[in-house]
Amino acid sequence: MNDNRTHIFSKIILMVEAILLITGILFCSISVYRARISIRRAIQQRMLDIANCASGSLDGDALGALSADDVGSDSYNDIYNSLAVFRDNVELEYIYSIKEEADGQFVFTMDLDQETPAAFGDSVKYTDALAKAGNGTTAVDEVPYSDKWGEFYSAYSPVFDSKGNVAGIIAVDFSADWFDGQLSSQMRSTVISYVIILLIAILVAAALSFSTVRPFVKMQGQLFEDKVRAESANMAKSDFLANMSHEIRTPINAMLGMNEMVLRESRKAKGQDSIDDKSAKEALDSIISYAGYVENAGHNLLALVNDILDFSKIEAGRIDLAEAPYSLGNLIGELGNMVRVRANDKDLEYIEDVDGSLPDNLCGDALRVRQVLVNLLNNAVKYTDQGCVSLKVSGQKQEDDTLLLTFTVSDTGIGIRAQDRDKLFTRFERLEMERNSTVEGTGLGLVITKRLLDMMNGNISVQSEYRRGSIFTVTIPQKIVSDEPVGEMAEAVSDESQQEPDYGKFRAPTARVLVVDDTMVNIMVVMHLLKDTQVICDKATSGADAIQMAKETEYDLIFMDQRMPEMDGTEAFHKIRETQGGASSNAPVICLTADAVVGAREKYLAEGFTDYLSKPVEGYALEKMLMRHLPKEKVKTV
Ligand code: ADP
Repeated sequence: MNDNRTHIFSKIILMVEAILLITGILFCSISVYRARISIRRAIQQRMLDIANCASGSLDGDALGALSADDVGSDSYNDIYNSLAVFRDNVELEYIYSIKEEADGQFVFTMDLDQETPAAFGDSVKYTDALAKAGNGTTAVDEVPYSDKWGEFYSAYSPVFDSKGNVAGIIAVDFSADWFDGQLSSQMRSTVISYVIILLIAILVAAALSFSTVRPFVKMQGQLFEDKVRAESANMAKSDFLANMSHEIRTPINAMLGMNEMVLRESRKAKGQDSIDDKSAKEALDSIISYAGYVENAGHNLLALVNDILDFSKIEAGRIDLAEAPYSLGNLIGELGNMVRVRANDKDLEYIEDVDGSLPDNLCGDALRVRQVLVNLLNNAVKYTDQGCVSLKVSGQKQEDDTLLLTFTVSDTGIGIRAQDRDKLFTRFERLEMERNSTVEGTGLGLVITKRLLDMMNGNISVQSEYRRGSIFTVTIPQKIVSDEPVGEMAEAVSDESQQEPDYGKFRAPTARVLVVDDTMVNIMVVMHLLKDTQVICDKATSGADAIQMAKETEYDLIFMDQRMPEMDGTEAFHKIRETQGGASSNAPVICLTADAVVGAREKYLAEGFTDYLSKPVEGYALEKMLMRHLPKEKVKTV
């Protein structure tokens, strides 16, 4: 379509230029024709001037009185000598005098030709111009005539006697060759001038059309392109929504369906008057199994939402890389801890092969590097049923103090068919759904991975053997901060694991906690998850209530939601801190929010919150928070 437009506009330009060209040629042709007439007139005028000069120098009475007998007389010679002055003019061929006889015949009275002069009384070739001169008007031949002396154009100028009668005619002959030569040489220079003018005009027209019409055409093209882009973005958006609707409904469907089963089983068990242990256990087993499905679908939904958020932000160009120094060893260690747990769950071996000489201190966006590797390692585990998953880390120092890191993630899983490899990095594209329908996933992971790598100037490639396994190789350039090597990874991992306290179950029956959230069900979730810890939980459903309760009661910890009507969590938090003599003015306040986008944690910590937890919250994470921030004397580990 766009090409068509450009084509049409190019055609318009060509047509405008063609019209200009034709007009120019027509204008030049008419001008050349008119110039030819003018040049001809000018030549004829010059011929007449000579003839007039010659005739003007003669005595008309003397010329009129000449007869054949006067040839050679003094008066004859006087006239002859006067005309002889003009004979030597380089342009003319012959000069002679003519008189009209009584019978209308024109005859020579004097011929100044030195070689074959005509005799007095010889007849002169009749032309219209000569007849005009006989009537007293100067005239020039419009067409050449021929006689025994050659081919000529002649100019005729009458000589008058003292009575005003035509006493004779002075004729000057110019050869037809001279006349045509004069005409064509002057025409040539005129034509050349017009051609130059025409060329300049065409060039100017072309330049004008380029400078005025082209930008217009370009603008039209640009507008058209923008329109097409907007339309395709719109289509992509509709596509996206259609896909999303399907992807989101699937886990919700599972959650609602399975939850209904939980309710049915529970009501059935409750409805029985007496239930034996075996039936009760069977009912509980079913409920546990259904609840497991609900949990799984919930996790899927959460992963999907996270992927969609990431993906939309990447698509909208709203993800910036946050470069900062980080430890490569720690990053690999954390990854190892995460993958090992998942691999063990599926009885898979996890093999790590890290080049210990790689520099440990690098600078880059560790979060994004981690996200890329988590995606690949999770996929490797997800799509492998037996064998192993491995991560190889190597690198090459570049000249500009950067390290080109190479991560190779291999698995012995289901592999990818050659014809499917192109679809790998296409959004929502999940391969072989009939085989993988039980594997959770959104089809967005690899797209996000690829986009993140593009942002980091990295690269990804895939090798795979169907049914044997796959190898994903990723390269990412990262700045080197110091040359200290990563060393043995086993140490790095154990160092890392030592930093994490051993979170077992604990009880804190004397600890008092305030949960602030405008949504009751969210408060219920936290309170139920903390039930086993026996902490005393109070609830506040608004910022104002929270401030009042914190003023009056001494809390060991406060969980503060963010998005609440009237007063948000951050404002409530600051007011609690500012309350003079408030019982909980200095209590640790944990930001508990669904605002989980990148940078949210840093934002809330910068506000002064003691810690940050994102929703949906997990029991394990809640317990970890309590362990970390409750007064140690109130916590009893079990
Ligand atoms: P998903 O969330 O479905 O895993 P991804 O974008 O991460 O989405 O992957 C897209 C598809 O590529 C997957 O659905 C799967 O069919 C295929 N795939 C990805 N990694 C592997 C792997 N290691 N082995 C086999 N197939 C894979």
